[in-house]
Amino acid sequence: MKKYNFNPGPSTLPQETVNNTAKAVVNFSDTGLSLMEISHRSKDFQLVLNETIMLFKELLNIPNDYSILFLGGGASLQFCMVPYNLLETKAAYLNSGAWACKAIEEAKLFGEVLELASSREKNFSYIPKNYIIPSDVDYFHITTNNTIFGTEIHSDIESSVPIVADMSSDIFSRTIDVSKYGLIYGGAQKNLAPAGVTFVIIKNSILGKVSRSIPSMLNYSIHIENGSMFNTPPVIPIYAALQTLKWLKSLGGIEEIHKRNKEKADLLYEEIDRNRLFKGTAAIEDRSLMNVCFIMNDEYKNLENDFQQFATSKGIVGIKGHRSVGGFRASIYNAIPKSTVKVLIHAMQKFERMN
Ligand SMILES: *Cc1c(COP(=O)(O)O)cnc(C)c1O
Repeated sequence: MKKYNFNPGPSTLPQETVNNTAKAVVNFSDTGLSLMEISHRSKDFQLVLNETIMLFKELLNIPNDYSILFLGGGASLQFCMVPYNLLETKAAYLNSGAWACKAIEEAKLFGEVLELASSREKNFSYIPKNYIIPSDVDYFHITTNNTIFGTEIHSDIESSVPIVADMSSDIFSRTIDVSKYGLIYGGAQKNLAPAGVTFVIIKNSILGKVSRSIPSMLNYSIHIENGSMFNTPPVIPIYAALQTLKWLKSLGGIEEIHKRNKEKADLLYEEIDRNRLFKGTAAIEDRSLMNVCFIMNDEYKNLENDFQQFATSKGIVGIKGHRSVGGFRASIYNAIPKSTVKVLIHAMQKFERMN
């Protein structure tokens, strides 16, 4: 049976990414060697890395005074690498969900952390607003898309201090102005590549301002000096990321994908709002274009397992909500076509008629 994969991460990637990477694992660039078996310093792989960096710059319009790194350790390692490299005395954090909480806990190991605003009291169902960013903090950290709670910051924030953004689950999904950020990072496994590579986009001038010594592997400057090859980078995920970026460029780039993402999300939210069995959990103005969270309406709570089973019988995979929200979450990243979203919508409509 054809599967419709709504997994939150690792998640659906473009078919081209999967196919081209599978080919390169067998025979990379007609070298007769597997991508797994060659030096990361070989000319052929250096070309892959260079092209990936070039497409990052082109698609996101990254200014020249920024560096791009491909590291290991996931977004979770960035929760500590960011304060290690940037927090001298005090940093501000926006607490918009579970990943932000983890980032905050790590930063506390390095200095004073101001939690500027939080939506915890409403189970992170909205993006906190109406806060003032102090001018005396080393940086302000935000999570642009809250993968678990299905909320998203839809526009860039103005700030006089560097903004550090965890964009693990919405990078390349919408237009952003990189020049408004000091640092952007994310794990690749939501919208870009298989797990194993973490991208970091850094404005060079924000580095070198802390007085502590930093172990080499955790030091952005060392990775930049070594062209993201201080140690062996995750070659297969980087190759896969390149395939995704080529696919994205061929579609028309970020503006085009953003348009499609809006269309997909609008269709699904419309159905959630219309269907008497379901309701959305996120504040309407903060609804994520990437992770659509919904639960059964109170009077139909007992149908939750039935809908889960019904969806499974239609080939729908990965819609179980995170335990902290319950219900359902459909992750509709870039690689999910509108037709797949429609399969879920039809299942919701059919299930409504049956009940
Ligand atoms: C998945 C996710 C993370 C954690 O990523 P890892 O690569 O597993 O460390 C962090 N932040 C956000 C917003 C995520 O969606």
